[in-house]
Formats: sequence, structure tokens, C-alpha cells
Amino acid sequence: MTFEEFNLNPAILKAITACGYTVPTPIQEQSIPVVMLGNDLIATAQTGTGKTAAFVLPALERLSVPSTVSGKGPRVLVLTPTRELAGQVMDAACKYGRGMRLRCGSILGGMPYRDQLRLLSAPVDIIVATPGRLLDHLERGSIRLDRLEMLILDEADRMLDMGFSEDMEKIVSRAPSNRQTLMFTATMEKSVLVLAEKMLNNPLRIELAVRTTSHELIEQRLHVADNLSHKKDLLRHLVSDTSLTRAIIFSATKRDADELARELSRCGHPAAALHGDMNQIARNKTIERMRRGAIRLLVATDVAARGLDVNGISHVINFDLPRFAEDYVHRIGRTGRAGATGIAISFVSSSELNYLERIERFIGKRLPEQNIEGLAPLSVLRRVSGGNGARRPGSSPGNRFGKPGGKPNNKPRPSTGQAKSWGNPASPAKPSGGRSNRAPVNQPVVEYRSRRNPSNNP
Ligand code: AMP
Repeated sequence: MTFEEFNLNPAILKAITACGYTVPTPIQEQSIPVVMLGNDLIATAQTGTGKTAAFVLPALERLSVPSTVSGKGPRVLVLTPTRELAGQVMDAACKYGRGMRLRCGSILGGMPYRDQLRLLSAPVDIIVATPGRLLDHLERGSIRLDRLEMLILDEADRMLDMGFSEDMEKIVSRAPSNRQTLMFTATMEKSVLVLAEKMLNNPLRIELAVRTTSHELIEQRLHVADNLSHKKDLLRHLVSDTSLTRAIIFSATKRDADELARELSRCGHPAAALHGDMNQIARNKTIERMRRGAIRLLVATDVAARGLDVNGISHVINFDLPRFAEDYVHRIGRTGRAGATGIAISFVSSSELNYLERIERFIGKRLPEQNIEGLAPLSVLRRVSGGNGARRPGSSPGNRFGKPGGKPNNKPRPSTGQAKSWGNPASPAKPSGGRSNRAPVNQPVVEYRSRRNPSNNP
């Protein structure tokens, strides 16, 4: 299939060609025709599959015909869970709509009201927003949705996880009932379907095989860690490998992200933290530095990293495992993008065993354990179930590690204090159990007309 077959406006087709896209991705191929027919849609698709263009292109097509309704409110509204994802959607709208005279902008928490009020003071075509701030504007009366033709809920499952359900419902209650609504989600879990039931009108459903398709190029590994200090030793070793060109390291808390980034920087690695306590300007700056290559190691929490679209991430390291299995899939999807290979390495300690089991059930396979010479764990991880939720024959339902029955590795590991250096690439040890192969989000645009700053493109 080609983009020409969608019968898109020539200006849109020209922009697609300029982006170098030759064929639509599967989510685009399936969604664009049904959305252009005006149907509501619920689709499972993750970042990295081309889902943004799957809704932005038909939205632009709609905008190529002038509105018949007077007023200033947006004709297309995209709700996203995070500011980073909103920035990415805004960039896509700019990129694909570059040949059209459109007025677009983002309405995000943590950003100045002044610019947003200016944006809303004249008729606007596309608004990309996080739910809290948009609702705030609705309640102040600074935005109205009576001109809204298309509502898009991007990463709807994540918005639910983040507690935006009530805000979304309030927003939707102010939108015209004849609008078209599209919902993109990583999973079709019950809460998402309940939301869809309330907000969508007889939607078509598209489910892509989200769990594996986008991750075939990612080598996944697991390292068992005895404790925090052992995790730091493992990290120190991994980041000293010169094949790691750019990595995102995920930590469980903002505090840990700050601390790890500080420790890595102190040891001479270009590193920085990215988390929700940083204001948007600082977050954008950090992402921009990562994209420019000024930062090699980004230590991030889940919320901040969602939707992050930085090319050339060679490694994702889960310093702490995520609590939700879906987040594992999102995290590792930061590498192996656009046809490149990537490596996803997870550390697991005894207290995270249940998270590991959830992840393995979700992805339908066991993560292969590897040891690094001199850094093997002293205890053994006793997993009860592997991928597919299967229990190994003869295994007990206990889920502890280091308990009798396992085969502890009794080889002494040099004791490793936290004060130790994070190491330079002097003697990177090799994984003993396997191969060692390899492999900004932009500033939200406040307003644009026909010309855009080229530096906004990825
Ligand atoms: P998304 O899933 O929307 O975050 O898109 C992931 C990446 O795929 C982005 O960098 C897009 O620029 C790129 N992309 C989107 N559609 C296509 C396509 N049809 N062909 C090639 N790359 C694409």
C-alpha cells in the first residue's frame, strides 16, 4: 500500500515524502482509511509504530476543509498523558502539516499561562494538551470546545493509570456529541474498554500485536542483583562499555534518578536525570542535550520518559524494574527504533521478583539471565513462572530468591562500596553467559503558521 492510495491532500502527501516515508506502517495502513471515513476508533498501538501519523494525517485531511462553525476553539484536540508525548505529537503535526496554513499549539501543565492564553485568543486548528491544564482552561472559560470535530485520546491507558479519568470525562462532557473520537492505547484492559464505552460511538477496533512486533530488534537480558550496591556495580560495569553509545537508565524514584545521575557524572560520564519534579523547560533542555549527544546516560523515571523519541539509544537499562508490566514494554521500546538494533538490560533484586514475573507473563517469555565475570550474584533467583505464565514442573510456588534449593554462586565477588569510582572503560568485563553483540522531544510549539523552525524536527 502507498500513501497516495489514502487520497490525502497533496500538501500532506508532499510533507510525507519530505519525511522520507515510502509506505504506511501497519497501524497507519489500518487506521487512516477508517478514520477518514469518519468512524470512531479504538486501536492498540505503541510509540514507535507510527501511531502519531495514523491520527495526525487524517486530522490534517479534515482541516484541509474549512470549518463551518464560528468560534475560536480547536477543531482537533489531542489529549496525552505527559508533556513529552504532547511535544512529540505537536512536532508531528508541524512536520506533516507544514504545507498547510494551520494554527496549532500545546496546552500543558507547568508551562506559562500567558502564552497559552495568547494561543487561545484566536481561532485554533489543533490543540495538543495534557488533561489537567486543559480542564483548567475550560473551567476558567478561556477555551471552548464547541467547534471540536475530532478528539484523540493518545495513550489512554496511561492517562487512566495517572488518574486522569475524571478530568477526561469532564473534558469530553464539554465536547459536541457529533465529534469523531479516536482512542490509542497500549492495552485493551477492562478500564480502557469502560472508558471507550463512555466516550466512543460504535468504534472500530484495531489490535496490533503490540507485545512483540516492535521489539524484535531488541536483545533483552536480565542480571540478578543482590542489593543496591551490587546494582551500582553492575551499572558501573555496563556504562564503561564503549559499545553503549547512548542509554536511558530507568530508576523507580525521582530521588534515585537524581542520585544516580550525580554519581555517574562525578565519575566522568555525561549523565543527567529526567523526572517529573523538573519543570518543563528543564526537561526539554535535558532531552535536547540528549538528542545532541551532550548527554550519554539519561537516568529517568517512567512518567518523564514516556513518549520520549530520541534516536540512537543503544541501551535501555532497568536499574529498577517497573511495577507495571506495560511499562517494561514502553521502556525497552526507547531503543531498537527505526530499524536499529538495541539492548535492554534489567536488574532484578529479591524484592522485585513479583514485578519480574508479571513482566514475563505479559511479554510471554522468560528474560535470559546473564552473569558478568566478577559480578555474579551471590544468591540465586528462583522464578516460579516463566513466560506464558507457565509454572516449571516441580517448582514450588514460593517466590523468594536465595532460599534453599537454588544454586548459590559461592564465588566471592569483590566487595563493592558505593564510594567506588563508576569506572572508565579500562577493562570492561564480558558477559559470561552470552554474546556481547550490538547494536528532543522538541519544545512544544506554541503557535505556527506556514513556516516552522526546522530545528523542531527530529
Ligand atoms: P510514533 O510511533 O508515532 O512515535 O513514530 C515513531 C517513528 O516512526 C517516528 O520517528 C516517525 O517519524 C516514524 N514514522 C512514522 N510513520 C512512518 C512511516 N510510514 N515510515 C517511516 N517512518 C515513519
